[in-house]
Amino acid sequence: MQPQFTPTRRQLLRLAATSVLTLPAAAAAREPVYSDNPDSRYICVEPDCSPYVYDPAVGDPDRGFPPGTRFQDLPGGWFCPDCGAPKWQFAALD
Ligand SMILES: [Zn+2]
Repeated sequence: MQPQFTPTRRQLLRLAATSVLTLPAAAAAREPVYSDNPDSRYICVEPDCSPYVYDPAVGDPDRGFPPGTRFQDLPGGWFCPDCGAPKWQFAALD
């Protein structure tokens, strides 16, 4: 008969630490809802924003993204230049 596995206190603490550490990663992995149209414009839905519209024909040249850069090709860490909202707070316009 095999002895039943009983986690030690150390193993339980490690498990708890792992759970806490993976939570922010899950939040950062939140993805915008992309349009089927790859050349779609995207609008910032943050209520306090002017609002800013990302137009791929314009890009975000001030931050190194030339005209022609599609919204979905912007890095996950890209954020609204007007209000700082994360990329997933944008909605497709087209
Ligand atoms: Zn914004």
